[in-house]
Amino acid sequence: MAYLGNSARTKEVLARYNMSAKKKFGQNFLIDGGVLEGIVEAAGVTDKDCVLEIGPGIGTLTQYLAEAAGRVVAVEIDKTLLPVLADTLSEYDNVTVINEDVLKVDIDRIIQEYNEGRPIKVVANLPYYITTPIIMKLLEERLNIESITVMIQKEVAHRLADTPGGKESGSITYTIWYYSEPEILFDVPNSSFIPEPEVTSTVIKFNILEKPRIEVNDEEKFFKVIKASFMQKRKTLVNSLVNGGVISSKEEAEKILTSIGLDTKIRGEKLSLEDFKNLSEKI
Ligand code: SAM
Repeated sequence: MAYLGNSARTKEVLARYNMSAKKKFGQNFLIDGGVLEGIVEAAGVTDKDCVLEIGPGIGTLTQYLAEAAGRVVAVEIDKTLLPVLADTLSEYDNVTVINEDVLKVDIDRIIQEYNEGRPIKVVANLPYYITTPIIMKLLEERLNIESITVMIQKEVAHRLADTPGGKESGSITYTIWYYSEPEILFDVPNSSFIPEPEVTSTVIKFNILEKPRIEVNDEEKFFKVIKASFMQKRKTLVNSLVNGGVISSKEEAEKILTSIGLDTKIRGEKLSLEDFKNLSEKI
């Protein structure tokens, strides 16, 4: 099987199986060999690596990964793609396809079963309709992952990589910087896909930190305070904390902010990770 990473082969495979891309699963197939090589290179995949691919589609990126990695485990929700993948990946004995929803599958079990619990690399051209829940699952479940290299919508990539306190930061920014070091890699034009998406895409890498960036006493409370602080846009932190049920009164909230050196009129997005640590430990 020749590489699928071009328009003619992709159209040929889709026609052979009488298929078209399904919008409900966010299917946009890559047809640009240069981009595919760029993703594998950016992910730093070597023959020592076990790679988890999310959404192999017709197997385009999977082929490039299978050439570079020791093992590839690909989780695909669309069962109609299974016969296609059996065909396009038939030459590779280091690929396993699992027909599951990535949001429901036990990724830790995959890591245990296919890499004896050692760290894996995640590489994917993600379905854009569930980009954020997938990235959050990968980070919050504290899986043994070394890095996550994914193609996502350009605006989302810039929002996710914004620093705490940055213009586009939100509660998710703090989760990302707590667990990882995000890195924007390169943009990919719409013409690199069939069908062409309506948005520009960007490849982003999250290098997972060996331990969280800061040490907090009570992680659950720390994230609860962060979430409450961003629940209402354009509100002061004091109002958000009270309305979010984290602190009982405005007076109490103002007292706590003053005690950790923060202005009582400050908004949540101006706080650093350290500020949220200090705040949650005072509440
Ligand atoms: N990797 C292929 C490529 O680059 O050409 C296809 C990428 S396409 C943007 C996204 C893929 O994710 C599709 O194959 C889609 O069926 C699959 N997908 C969508 N939702 C999924 C889910 N919840 N779990 C696993 N795969 C999913």
